[in-house]
Amino acid sequence: MGVLKKKKVKVIKIDLEKCNGCRACEVICSSFHAVPKYGSNNPARSRIRLIRDPLKDIFLPVYAGEYTAAQCMGRDKYIIQGKEYGECDFCRASCPSRDAFKEPDSGLPLKCDMCEDDPPQEEPLCVQWCLNKALIYEEREEEVEEEVRPDEVEAGLKSLVDKYGLGKVVDTVVRLSSKG
Ligand code: SF4
Ligand code: SF4
Repeated sequence: MGVLKKKKVKVIKIDLEKCNGCRACEVICSSFHAVPKYGSNNPARSRIRLIRDPLKDIFLPVYAGEYTAAQCMGRDKYIIQGKEYGECDFCRASCPSRDAFKEPDSGLPLKCDMCEDDPPQEEPLCVQWCLNKALIYEEREEEVEEEVRPDEVEAGLKSLVDKYGLGKVVDTVVRLSSKG
């Protein structure tokens, strides 16, 4: 059983040709997430990190994705426009095989939250601070099917019945369904 829901998908596109390795994205990300906000900056706490090897003209900004408990066994190696990248360079995971995307004091994983803020930012801050336009923000709506587990619905209804009584719950359901 599933319900169709609209989901906003946020994407930061990375144009490798435009990044010059200035690291402004790391500075603003770590500063925005500092406590207090903007109180300090430390690229090691940034959720976007720059893979850089100036001698090979490699400047690759990567923003943090999911935490993964185990390192992967099979890895990919990319050669793009004659430049050979390290086998973990494009990976966004906070994983045991490297220090990237870990809070330096606690070791806790860091993950990009697209600069969640109240009121919301117009665009993620790393995108706003990238003067070279190497980071391009995009958002789109997708319809996704969300699975509804019957046991979850049943458990939810049972707790409502326990709290308010069966009559009140039934009355509410009838009223809601009559609203269409
Ligand atoms: S701010 Fe832009 S140009 Fe500078 S390092 Fe980050 S992605 Fe590259
Ligand atoms: S979108 Fe925000 S949280 Fe994510 S890497 Fe950029 S500045 Fe950091």
